[in-house]
Amino acid sequence: MRSLKSAKELVPGGLVVEAGNARDYETGDWRTEKPEVDFGKCIHCFFCWAYCPDASVNVDPEAGKMKGFDLRHCKGCGICAGVCPKKAITMVLEQRSATKARDDHG
Ligand code: SF4
Ligand code: SF4
Repeated sequence: MRSLKSAKELVPGGLVVEAGNARDYETGDWRTEKPEVDFGKCIHCFFCWAYCPDASVNVDPEAGKMKGFDLRHCKGCGICAGVCPKKAITMVLEQRSATKARDDHG
């Protein structure tokens, strides 16, 4: 991300003006809870994939399998757990150590 020389360079309204910057702003950092799936209960219906607002559910469409979560962008909203017909997803408190948080933010 480039540094600003003055406040006049600020973009109004928090607009995202750089294309393809998802790697620089991993929204998973906002999370306080994370989803965990019990594959013993999962019937691979893909409801969680269809409803996730952050495209954070990984699936293998050829195998017809739900594979887990991309936690880099999962914000922990819990929608996937709410829509799962088998109650296979549990939201658990995120445990980040101080060292990990420091490493994540450089
Ligand atoms: S908790 Fe929310 S953002 Fe994360 S995988 Fe589930 S639906 Fe997607
Ligand atoms: S909604 Fe539940 S049962 Fe369906 S794929 Fe996701 S975890 Fe599996």
